[in-house]
Amino acid sequence: MRITIVGAGAMGSMFGGLLAECGNAVTLIDINDAHIGAIRSDGLRLVTDNGDRRVKTLKICRPEDAREPPELLVIFTKTLHTGAALQGVKHLIGPDVHVLSLQNGLGNVEKISEFASAERILIGVTTWPADMVAPGHVHSHGKGVVRLMAADGNARPIVSMVSETLSAAGLQCSADATVWAAIWEKVAFNAALNTICAVTGCTVDQLGSTPEGSRLAEQVVVEVLSVAQRLGIDVNPAKCKVNVAGAIAQHKGHKPSMLQDVQAGRRTEIEAINGAAVATAGSLNMTLPATEALLSLVRLVEARAVACHPSPASGTDQDALPSSV
Ligand code: NAD
Repeated sequence: MRITIVGAGAMGSMFGGLLAECGNAVTLIDINDAHIGAIRSDGLRLVTDNGDRRVKTLKICRPEDAREPPELLVIFTKTLHTGAALQGVKHLIGPDVHVLSLQNGLGNVEKISEFASAERILIGVTTWPADMVAPGHVHSHGKGVVRLMAADGNARPIVSMVSETLSAAGLQCSADATVWAAIWEKVAFNAALNTICAVTGCTVDQLGSTPEGSRLAEQVVVEVLSVAQRLGIDVNPAKCKVNVAGAIAQHKGHKPSMLQDVQAGRRTEIEAINGAAVATAGSLNMTLPATEALLSLVRLVEARAVACHPSPASGTDQDALPSSV
């Protein structure tokens, strides 16, 4: 398959490397010149449980230098950069191009809809982890899955084609019509853990140091998933609470991406997570007190962090620093 990945950070590079290794024609698009230069000169250094190797068959360029429309365009920027990134590659999004988002958060379909028609958008969720270690060097350890569907809910051949292509690359993908439940459950998980860690500076396991940490996380999960339930989405709050408790018990020393972002003076994905949950709740006349309080606090912490780390006008150099979810 001819695949273009826009936003070739931790996840985009990892997915791109694996897809290129099994014979797909993959082009990465990014605005991080150091990363582009490193991959052009030595290939992508990709470290997974299957080994430490260099993928030399990847093309990489800046958006303005990309020419060939792909069959599949995968958007893998942080959510706050989706609009600008798609604007930068809109010349590639012709009538035959499908666009896939596996980004975290809500609102991704709406943003893509400004550039592609509804029947060409695929939406999904992934549990694969990845970190960027240095320009041209990413690693991903452990296992994950991808679940995806057509954003308009229709069964389309492209869904199984993409799913088979990702699975052939080892990414364990399935076509799944219940993706919205998984997306909301991941939003609830991140709305709880990422924000409390970003505001307090605690690692995930440290949220278990007092009963209040776990209780607050649980409250956010219940609030966010109550919105999904009101929308008729069949989420499972009990399972999500167990996952949150499991993360607090097991993720020793883990700093969620939102904490890493504020510590590095970068903007976070808060608007696509708590921001979108609170906005959706508002449109349904619901209130989410804990989720909204954490939204306000993260906005404050983020504003201070960005002010204390003056970045280049675009902010993109800093956005390219190592991060993980
Ligand atoms: P990242 O910050 O490592 O990568 C994002 C890349 O986008 C960067 O290389 C940046 O330079 C690039 N970018 C920014 N603006 C751009 C533009 N205008 N045009 C082209 N490229 C641009 O982020 P990530 O960790 O790979 O996460 C990507 C998405 O996947 C996020 O929504 C995240 O929440 C989600 N996610 C991440 C993980 C993880 O473990 N890292 C896991 C699951 C989901």
